[in-house]
Amino acid sequence: MNSVPVSLTRRPNGQSDRRLDDQTDDTPRDECGVMGISTPHGEGVAEMTFFGLFALQHRGQEAAGIAVSDGQRARIHKDEGLVANVFTPDAMAPLTGYHSIGHTRYSTTGSSAHRNIQPFLVETMHGPMAVAHNGNIVNAPALREELLHRGFGLTATSDTEVIALMLAAAGGRTWQERLERTLPAWKGAFSLVLLAADEVIAVRDPWGFRPLSLGRLPQGGYAVASETCALATLGCTEVDEVRPGEIVTLRGAEMHRHQALSAAPNSAHCTFEFVYFSRPDSVWDGHNVHHVRQRLGIELARESGVEADVVIPVPDSSIPAAIGYSTESGIPHNDGLIKNRYIGRTFIEPTQAMRERGVALKFNALTENLAGKRVVMIDDSLVRGTTAGPLVKLVRDAGAAEVHVRITCPPITHACHFGVDMGHDGDLMAAHKTVAEMEEHIGADSLAFLSLEGMMRAVGAADGYCNACFTGDYPIAVTEAQAKLSFEGAIA
Ligand code: SF4
Repeated sequence: MNSVPVSLTRRPNGQSDRRLDDQTDDTPRDECGVMGISTPHGEGVAEMTFFGLFALQHRGQEAAGIAVSDGQRARIHKDEGLVANVFTPDAMAPLTGYHSIGHTRYSTTGSSAHRNIQPFLVETMHGPMAVAHNGNIVNAPALREELLHRGFGLTATSDTEVIALMLAAAGGRTWQERLERTLPAWKGAFSLVLLAADEVIAVRDPWGFRPLSLGRLPQGGYAVASETCALATLGCTEVDEVRPGEIVTLRGAEMHRHQALSAAPNSAHCTFEFVYFSRPDSVWDGHNVHHVRQRLGIELARESGVEADVVIPVPDSSIPAAIGYSTESGIPHNDGLIKNRYIGRTFIEPTQAMRERGVALKFNALTENLAGKRVVMIDDSLVRGTTAGPLVKLVRDAGAAEVHVRITCPPITHACHFGVDMGHDGDLMAAHKTVAEMEEHIGADSLAFLSLEGMMRAVGAADGYCNACFTGDYPIAVTEAQAKLSFEGAIA
């Protein structure tokens, strides 16, 4: 029997840290980042996984984990917090082996409780198996019920545990066979990496909702990662996407690709990866994210130009779009808001007076660039509408004569069921307010959103993308879609 040492540190006295972002951020919550590495030499596998996760930190800041196999035993360390805080030298020391997977988490299904931190590692009759998942399986509640009826005990509240247990119980001689038999049951978004005793397996759902790429490591072996920026950090070459429905097996110096399921005819790549989630230096679906964002700004200037003196981004994701808007409109761009990029998690609660300052905890206005100016403020999205108003006020208080808000995507009117937490439909400002009402609500002189057509022109594709949060046209029926915490009642 293989042993599965688990290292998982709990906060003293049940103390939990909290995100300052909760009070200062109105962006959709990032999803998750996954990494997988397999090498023939076993040197620095956990360290490479760490630096890959470090490059994917923007996809999830609540928790991180790495599981490593030496060919027989798997070891894991995972905890709440940023990647750099979770993995100390002491935590890394036991993580030796040839194959590894990692995960950085923002909770989509299941609360951010310790039990839901990934990877999930289970001991099976076939040896250890760990799973790290980005996405959301929309029929997970029904699959979970089925597992419970078959007598399985479930300890966590996320769909990733459902994936792990279904795989462990599946028939087949190899993990590839078990995966192939199980895959058709999963409906929804999944970019998965699995760790077995002697291999790493990557698989992507047939719709291709979430990104997943692979590359060859310079020192031998292969890596898979949610975004190409992580592969670039590791110096990977021969970078390619894991295709929708494809299973990729990494075993030291060997890599095998197998189209296990046909790609769905209505592929559904997430447009929001371009608008907000992915790092600008990543390539998603063959397009550099920074360049698409610049084109979003160009389209926005064409559709909703306005007389102004300066274009400013809400940093960071709107910086390329502000450059594009400026290029197209001829209005100079400049910094108007400076973001504290180190804000995130803290044990320290802000005082009530500080909390009332809201976005000022995260942004300061550059008065010198704003006073007396007619300002175009570019932002990537309006979700609940909680920060746009305070940002407009911050810019006005710095002396701006006018503030025109331009958003680089259409109004978000529907919740995402494919791994992005935007809240429920009722939480979304655009679901129950007109553009004029939103303009008044945030106190802007004018407010305009990019059209769906303009956004897709910037992406450079007419179809093949999911735009359900803008249109309500879900690529997969979501009648079974669960609320984020729908499993929570089942497990105290
Ligand atoms: S609903 Fe929106 S955020 Fe969710 S996958 Fe589709 S485009 Fe992406």
